[in-house]
Amino acid sequence: MTPPTALTIAGSDSGGGAGIQADLRTFFAHGVHGLVALTAVTVQNSLGVQGFTEIPADVVAAQIKAVASDMGVDAAKTGMLATAEIIRAVAKTLDEVGGDIPLVVDPVAASMTGHALLREDALEAIRTELFPRATLITPNLDEVRLLTGISVTSPASQREAAEALLAFGSRWVLVKGGHMEGSTCVDLLTDGDAVISLSGPRYDTENTHGGGDTMASAITASLAKGASVPDAVAAGKKFIERCVAESYPLGAGVGPVSPFW
Ligand code: PLP
Repeated sequence: MTPPTALTIAGSDSGGGAGIQADLRTFFAHGVHGLVALTAVTVQNSLGVQGFTEIPADVVAAQIKAVASDMGVDAAKTGMLATAEIIRAVAKTLDEVGGDIPLVVDPVAASMTGHALLREDALEAIRTELFPRATLITPNLDEVRLLTGISVTSPASQREAAEALLAFGSRWVLVKGGHMEGSTCVDLLTDGDAVISLSGPRYDTENTHGGGDTMASAITASLAKGASVPDAVAAGKKFIERCVAESYPLGAGVGPVSPFW
């Protein structure tokens, strides 16, 4: 039987922990066929990102068109998009191939080791070009601060940030609380009407490389299978909790969340 399909529009991680590598194995784990529009090739290991080269924007667009026109896309996600030119090409192409495809936008700006994964001015393009087309956006707290200027330190500021982000035009916002203090990890999901607080355990590990990508692609896989946004996010949170619980050291720096469980 043909499985559902999910498209990741994202960069490659030579260390295999994040990027399209994380997305494809997460799709696989959900029984979803993974499609890829590669945006950039990063050079990185557990110690950080040494650099990246972006793929020409027309080649990114052509990859999306090639798979959408023939194989069909049940849901899509964006990760590292590298440049404003690529972001504009992705937005235009997604409109052309079918604006009703559920779209998860993970506004990746930098690695957790602090290396920029976007050229200057590109975050603004994500906000203006992609957020209005997104079913769901999934910023972490660093990205929330870059996008809204709000430093989330409490449930009240998390709610305030979610409302500020909704104003950029996505249907749903998930403000991930993974980088907040505390023994639990509370994520806030809202579409302006429903406000859903998702609480889970916080695991004591440094090895969380690829965690954001993995959660966003788990949500995308569930959307591809027809789940509602709240159900897909709840399932994605359970999935990433297991990946973080089983994370492992690899190299001298930050190890990956684990697909092995
Ligand atoms: N490399 C690529 C290609 C990514 O897409 C990402 C995150 O989206 C990263 C690196 C950074 O991952 P992390 O912040 O989990 O280290």
